[in-house]
Amino acid sequence: MNIEQLFDPTTSTYSYLLWDEKTKQAALIDSVKEQIVRDDTLIKQLGLQLKYALETHIHADHITGSGLLRKAFNCQVAVHKNSDVECADILLCDGDTLKLGEETINIIYTPGHTNTDISYQIKGAVFSGDALLINGCGRTDFQSGDAKTLYYSITQKLFTLDDETRVYPGHDYHGFTSTTIGREKNFNPRLGNNRSEEEFVAIMNALILDPPARIDVAVPGNQQCGLKVV
Ligand code: FE
Repeated sequence: MNIEQLFDPTTSTYSYLLWDEKTKQAALIDSVKEQIVRDDTLIKQLGLQLKYALETHIHADHITGSGLLRKAFNCQVAVHKNSDVECADILLCDGDTLKLGEETINIIYTPGHTNTDISYQIKGAVFSGDALLINGCGRTDFQSGDAKTLYYSITQKLFTLDDETRVYPGHDYHGFTSTTIGREKNFNPRLGNNRSEEEFVAIMNALILDPPARIDVAVPGNQQCGLKVV
């Protein structure tokens, strides 16, 4: 599978364009509405057939471009079934699979940051959204977040993948682009080195974080596939 990592500097969001070389069938994970011209141009330049616009979760910090992508490419919009998104074409559950040509995308439900989080696994790599970040993890203090649930998702699901698995997160704020499962198992300061659930929950509860700047607009906007934004 080909992977192109794309970055939105305003929100430090990574989007990922995946495609199968043979058939040119493609998926875009976590598109950002403000970057739609960039993504539209790239998809056309590469001669891809965009089949899916995928969300790792209902974002609180940016508006998705999925509705606009569907208009431009007639692709299907996919979110987790808990997302309460009536405009979605596909409601995904743990264990589901999506196909791009001969390549398979496996759906791993990894809640805790929200109750809608999906990690998308392909051969050799996983797109972890805001569940597992590089040297960190998604916050758990709003939007149905729960630290114990996130601990389980990361340690019992993502950390069971091969150590060499490349991890592509939903955000990075420190200049990193990707990591591996092995590195995070060893060095992640919140969960690495076999930290206990109690330690992790204490770390998460002690975080004092400002709410995302656009949460009041982003969450309802994303439940409309980014099309009806107030
Ligand atoms: Fe998020």
